[in-house]
Amino acid sequence: MLKDNLINNMLKISHQQIEWSQSDTLIKQLPYTFENGMQFHGFTAKCSGCLNKIESKNLRGSVARLDTNRCLLNAKGYCQPCNGITSYSYILTAAEELRAEVFDADNTPGDGAMN
Ligand SMILES: [Zn+2]
Repeated sequence: MLKDNLINNMLKISHQQIEWSQSDTLIKQLPYTFENGMQFHGFTAKCSGCLNKIESKNLRGSVARLDTNRCLLNAKGYCQPCNGITSYSYILTAAEELRAEVFDADNTPGDGAMN
């Protein structure tokens, strides 16, 4: 049973790594300019395993426009020492200042996030 879980985890990581390798680097898509002229230049991505900063060349994903002053940032960072992927999802809102909220698409129903 434990071995099965281990294999499942390995499969999950390799699937994420394939997805990661097929994405564009985030830095290539930045800065993102909102319609009010504010710009998003990126963020400090930390590995969930070792808490070290993930190099920008290992940070990949996309920035998608939601509406005038909001966009959805989805990124995955690859940490070489951990051989692991950390996912980041933020909704960025450009009002008087730039605001980032964690967007958790994997939230299970019952956590109170869905209405
Ligand atoms: Zn790490």
